[in-house]
Amino acid sequence: MNTLTKRVDMKESIMNYTLDELKNIVKPSFRAKQIYGWTYHKYVESFSDMANLPKTLIEELDDKFILNPLKIVKKELSNDGTIKYLLQLQDEKTIEAVWLKMKEEQLNSNGEVSQEAKYTICVSTQVGCKVGCSFCLTAKGGFTRDLTPSEIVAQVLTLKKDNKHKHNRKINIVYMGMGEPLDNLDNLSKAIKIFTEKDGLAIGAKRQTVSTSGLSNKIDQLGSMDLGVHIAISLHAVDDDLRTELIPMNKAHNINSIIEAVKRFPIDTRKRVMFEYLVIKGKNDDLNSAKKLIKLLTGIKAKVNLIYFNPYPGTDYERPLKEDMTRFSDFLIKHGLLCTIRDSKGIDISAACGQLKEKNKEEIAS
Ligand code: SF4
Repeated sequence: MNTLTKRVDMKESIMNYTLDELKNIVKPSFRAKQIYGWTYHKYVESFSDMANLPKTLIEELDDKFILNPLKIVKKELSNDGTIKYLLQLQDEKTIEAVWLKMKEEQLNSNGEVSQEAKYTICVSTQVGCKVGCSFCLTAKGGFTRDLTPSEIVAQVLTLKKDNKHKHNRKINIVYMGMGEPLDNLDNLSKAIKIFTEKDGLAIGAKRQTVSTSGLSNKIDQLGSMDLGVHIAISLHAVDDDLRTELIPMNKAHNINSIIEAVKRFPIDTRKRVMFEYLVIKGKNDDLNSAKKLIKLLTGIKAKVNLIYFNPYPGTDYERPLKEDMTRFSDFLIKHGLLCTIRDSKGIDISAACGQLKEKNKEEIAS
């Protein structure tokens, strides 16, 4: 069976639908809420596990839909609690999603849990990517296709289920996996709405961050949808020449156009826009770059996240020295900019996006 035939034959996932849409599909409409509960609260694996649905409805659902369109192909567990997942889609393409432990569980003096551990899920939005960042393994494989809303939603469901994370425990989502989220804005915005459904996963928009390489027109479009999500910008450089070397798309969406779009974006006044800055040794780790960065972000309620570049086989770029990273960070803080250095989560596994997928290909080929 060729790929095209396979796709035509494929059944749609029920996770493509908001609750209101499902109410229009399933009759009587209260059944939609029950299906949502079984899917997003109980994490069942088949329609036949939905014990309070009539047999005829289960047969109808089985005829037209599938539940989860993803299968776990591979997992890599890091010492810091990061788990990187390789997930297979119905058409056998693969994507990555990452389970990140952000805060350890806290115990009180009686040994009881006083604060639960906090997690973030890093989600992919496309198979491959068109942006072509020079430091990114995903970019090397080119672009294959956009993910559907259900394929975006199912990443969170699959990882929560695999980690026995109850539906009502809070979780954050960052759209920072494979792909450029704003290049798949229609499906992304639908997934965001499905995530926020009170009778589903109930993950508030404020817990979701769209991380973009800077499609300035799409930042405006996302802003006009008023979904309430946060944005993070992968800035990485302070002058257009270097940024174009790192992110070729910078030719069409230069630094100035991105900064202007961010200034127009509806931001919760209590929050800050995150600017990701991937620090590469000898490329953008000097104080002159730090000075330019401060100037560029003047007037924006910004926070800078410095990220260590993690070298992977075949790259010419190098990981920055710890002292250069600290000097850069101290300089920003001294000049009033909030700044963090991102923990190298998952450094002992394939941490850069696209690495697990590449490794798996090599293993399959060997
Ligand atoms: S870093 Fe992100 S935007 Fe850039 S090519 Fe990789 S996946 Fe695409």
